[in-house]
Amino acid sequence: MFIDRAKILVKAGDGGNGAVSFHREKYVAAGGPDGGDGGRGGDVIFVVDKHLNTLESFRYQKKFLAQNGAPGGRRRCSGRSGEDLVIRVPEGTLIREVSTGQIMADMSGPDPVVIARGGKGGAGNQHFATATRQIPRFAKPGAPGESYELQLELKLLADVGLVGFPNVGKSTLISVVSAARPKIANYHFTTLSPVLGVVSFGDGESFVMADIPGLVEGASEGVGLGHDFLRHVDRCRLILHVVDVSGSEGRDPVEDYRKICYELGNFDPELAARPQILVANKCDLATPEQLEDFRRFAEAEGLPLFTISAATTDGVRDLISHVARTLSELPPLKVYEPDFVRPEIRQPDRSFEVTVEDGIYYVDAPWLENLMSTINPDDYESLQYFQRVLRESGIIDRLDQMGIGEGDTVDIQGFQFEYIH
Ligand code: GDP
Ligand code: MG
Repeated sequence: MFIDRAKILVKAGDGGNGAVSFHREKYVAAGGPDGGDGGRGGDVIFVVDKHLNTLESFRYQKKFLAQNGAPGGRRRCSGRSGEDLVIRVPEGTLIREVSTGQIMADMSGPDPVVIARGGKGGAGNQHFATATRQIPRFAKPGAPGESYELQLELKLLADVGLVGFPNVGKSTLISVVSAARPKIANYHFTTLSPVLGVVSFGDGESFVMADIPGLVEGASEGVGLGHDFLRHVDRCRLILHVVDVSGSEGRDPVEDYRKICYELGNFDPELAARPQILVANKCDLATPEQLEDFRRFAEAEGLPLFTISAATTDGVRDLISHVARTLSELPPLKVYEPDFVRPEIRQPDRSFEVTVEDGIYYVDAPWLENLMSTINPDDYESLQYFQRVLRESGIIDRLDQMGIGEGDTVDIQGFQFEYIH
């Protein structure tokens, strides 16, 4: 099976917590704060790997986590940064964020792209000494790394796409003009995955051709095999529409042409409007009347027509030089511009629940756990910082609404204290 779509989850590393520590030396009574900063969490980075041509590797692995930053240490030692996670994808992979559908990156160039950014490390208490607060017994927690659900979609990078019904000779054509060697056989669906071939011409010039698996009727409605592959025609600058002019399989080339155009347009109206060259293949099997009829049809439609035999290579050279000339006048390959709006100040999940039991107010807020580990309950400054967080997140308001009184017990993630307004 050819895998060209995948849904995965990526999460960058969390920043490490800042440390609380004080300088200690023999014979020195009280040193200043020297808690180091937490390390930065690793990023999740995407790069193109030209050796890959499917998204097969995402079939089983769905979760990708970069390393967290290490917590800060004593003596102003910063925690180690988390390692970046590099994810390799085939050229032409489009990355969308699932909840918004927005494009985060079009991996069609050589540059690596940071998709999820690691969280900043928390500041150690070395930074919190001021004239009035000389003994800062708290540090900042690390920030969480970004996490996204992603839809990966491979859209091959090819200048020219070969489309047509199965068995009309697409694979044969690409095999005689390039080094690509797709399977060629006289039964339908021999081509089960798109194949790319580099077609060289003139003075070291070349273009890329894609052999798109045969379309069948109803492909754009998801019937049959062809639908999934239409996405690979999406970026093509030019479509070579191949028909069997000899009707060797009892098909009518005019009817085939119309059906394929209908499928393209149904999938994406823009595709039907893409420049097309009509390629009448198997001319070695066709009668002069068949060739003449089809020529008249193409003329009436105003379509450029090339009559060839992929098997004998008759007419192939002319076709390729015409394709090369046409391409030189067409706009470059379609590249998607990212439109993803990065939440600059990410509102972390600060939901909580409060329940009362035997006069104790239990606050369930898992996100506070990380913060609590950096709070020193014996330190006034530290507690003030803690209270500010409780106030900003709405926990204090909720407790008030629930009728909490001075001196009542509050339990936050197992840490109990008296409520003082
Ligand atoms: P695809 O399904 O469109 O890729 O078609 P293939 O390239 O696999 O060809 C289908 C069959 O048609 C194979 O048996 C080919 O050998 C044969 N074929 C392809 N092109 C020609 C041609 O120009 N003349 C003749 N006589 N047979 C051809
Ligand atoms: Mg084929």
